[in-house]
Amino acid sequence: MATIFSKIIAGDIPSYKVAENEHFYAFLDINPLAKGHTLVVPKREVDYIFDLDDEELAAMQVFAKGVALAIQQAFPCQKVGQAVIGLEVPHAHIHLIPIQRESDMIFSNPKLKLTDEEFKAIAAAIQQKWSER
Ligand code: 5GP
Repeated sequence: MATIFSKIIAGDIPSYKVAENEHFYAFLDINPLAKGHTLVVPKREVDYIFDLDDEELAAMQVFAKGVALAIQQAFPCQKVGQAVIGLEVPHAHIHLIPIQRESDMIFSNPKLKLTDEEFKAIAAAIQQKWSER
């Protein structure tokens, strides 16, 4: 059965897309730790990120780098932190999170509650920076 992220990539479930290429897709996390919290996923459905083959993992990281630069331009921050957890959704994904301090990366922190309009505006701002690269 397709993962929820495969359904998102296929457009069967809506998402706030920020970037896409032939092999990877980036969209806003629905329970963000910060404005701009983004997930990067491979279109090929693989659960565990370290089961990706070397070339695919390297390409995913390079794609994530471009997305991270776009996030930082749209939402100025100290750094964009990166994390891989993957205990909830069995489809490999990288979290990219604008951070000011180490504690901004704690996943048990309260999540932001954003409106549909806010999500759309955040995604559009990152997408704009992504397309200007
Ligand atoms: P993890 O598998 O890395 O532990 O957590 C999965 C992440 O995916 C969580 O941060 C959660 O908020 C996010 N997530 C789960 N389901 C959806 C969804 O349907 N849409 C979006 N945009 N994010 C989701």
